[in-house]
Amino acid sequence: MIEINGKTDLLSLDISELEEYLAGLGEPKYRAKQIFTWLHKGASIDEMSNLSKKLRDRISETAIVNLPTIEAKLISKLDGTVKYLFGLSDGNVIESVFMRYKHGNTICISSEVGCPMGCRFCASTIGGLVRRLLPSELLGQVIAAEKDMGERISNIVMMGIGEPLDNYDNVIKFLRLVGDPNGLNIGARHISLSTCGLVDKIDELAKLDLQITLSISLHAADDETRSSIMPVNNKWKIAELLDSCRRYYAVTGRRISFEYTLIAGKNDSPEYARRLSDTLRHGLYQRSQPFPIHVNLIPVNEVAETGFKRSSVDSVKRFADILAKNGINATVRRKLGSDINASCGQLRRASLDEKLKKESVENSVDIS
Ligand code: SAH
Repeated sequence: MIEINGKTDLLSLDISELEEYLAGLGEPKYRAKQIFTWLHKGASIDEMSNLSKKLRDRISETAIVNLPTIEAKLISKLDGTVKYLFGLSDGNVIESVFMRYKHGNTICISSEVGCPMGCRFCASTIGGLVRRLLPSELLGQVIAAEKDMGERISNIVMMGIGEPLDNYDNVIKFLRLVGDPNGLNIGARHISLSTCGLVDKIDELAKLDLQITLSISLHAADDETRSSIMPVNNKWKIAELLDSCRRYYAVTGRRISFEYTLIAGKNDSPEYARRLSDTLRHGLYQRSQPFPIHVNLIPVNEVAETGFKRSSVDSVKRFADILAKNGINATVRRKLGSDINASCGQLRRASLDEKLKKESVENSVDIS
């Protein structure tokens, strides 16, 4: 069992682990489901009104509810998208974004504090990986946002800060916890996981045969370009990545979606669109057996530190048209919350910059 400052991390436990924890307090098994349901509604231990005061005290002495705190909340005037800066128990901060879609409320959650992957266009990886999130911290983002909004969240995308497959065990545990009918009951079909392409972990994930949607951050169609913006490509080349996608599809039967960020003058010319069509078709279609491909085109969000510029509306359209002509199903990602910089990583960076400025002022010696 995970402990935080010597106390059991209740939100990281599944029902059988909660039973075990409660057995240690001399409590019957049936209490586990009651407590699990309370926890996943965002209740504090004291709010668990069907438990005796004595039991609540025993739990408070030995365990904690590791929910994040809301450090900042930005609400888009354009579309109601809400961005949270959440504080963790050790003072680190992460971001989550709540979005309203026709098919239900969706939350984009972070999987790590920082990120080790080093993609050149991405704000989350500047400063590297600080640490991986616990199952309670993955789940806590959904619970805290649902509680704050007072609305049910029905879909989750793991596209926030961090690389979910670099935090594999905790992410798998989270998927089990969040799908439990005694709690949030968000099934795998309502969850998307985005990865920069850790081939060994994609193969491990395939074995679990989950019904989640896998998104692959491809962003380039040839190894030279991809390696220049995504260091992970030095470990696994595009062909190896696409092979793992084929294996994943063969087991799960789930359509895979490919993310392609359009960067002006880098990967957005018609030549690159043709290259992307060819790479996907050659890498994925076998013996002319079609493979259900979906490409998400995302004009790059400009991050001051990276210097990359967004593609023009015309280049995006031209790119999408060429894919369509080549029989590749593509959509351009609708941008929500553009007035609050809703894409992940930037708010955390801004808050770190603020903190650094504050600390350097506090640490500066007054020589006047
Ligand atoms: N590490 C995972 C998930 C987090 S990033 C991954 O790589 O997939 C979620 C998506 O946003 C990825 O497709 C990522 O490449 C993309 N992304 C990161 N920075 C971006 C930026 N500045 N503009 C547009 N997309 C970006």
